[in-house]
Amino acid sequence: MSRIVEYTCIICPSGCLLRVEAEENRVVKVEGAGCPRGVEYAKQEFSDPMRIVFTVVRVRNGELPTVSVKTTRPIPKNKVFNLMKMLASIELEAPVEIGEIIVGDAYGAEVVATRRVGRREPVAG
Ligand code: SF4
Repeated sequence: MSRIVEYTCIICPSGCLLRVEAEENRVVKVEGAGCPRGVEYAKQEFSDPMRIVFTVVRVRNGELPTVSVKTTRPIPKNKVFNLMKMLASIELEAPVEIGEIIVGDAYGAEVVATRRVGRREPVAG
């Protein structure tokens, strides 16, 4: 029995609507893609969806209370919640450098800081 699934391609700003026809969990046709990258995206999304994760991690004694972080490559979509939960439990000590590895192995990716957060100067007095 065949089924139809639709995705919006997120590879480029055109946002093509991709229509995937699958039979027994196998993609047999992809329509709507403006280029071959969309076809590959639809197949990947259907069989093993992946996501790059962007979030923030708390920083102790920093100029800012949090630092923005991201995974260095996409991770399985069904692992995103676990990773977000794990990152929510972390508190870094300032300073945090841009590119600093926050988590070394996050489902096949690294989590790195995407900005610098310096150490907060103690208030005089
Ligand atoms: S299918 Fe190609 S043109 Fe369309 S959004 Fe995806 S990458 Fe862009």
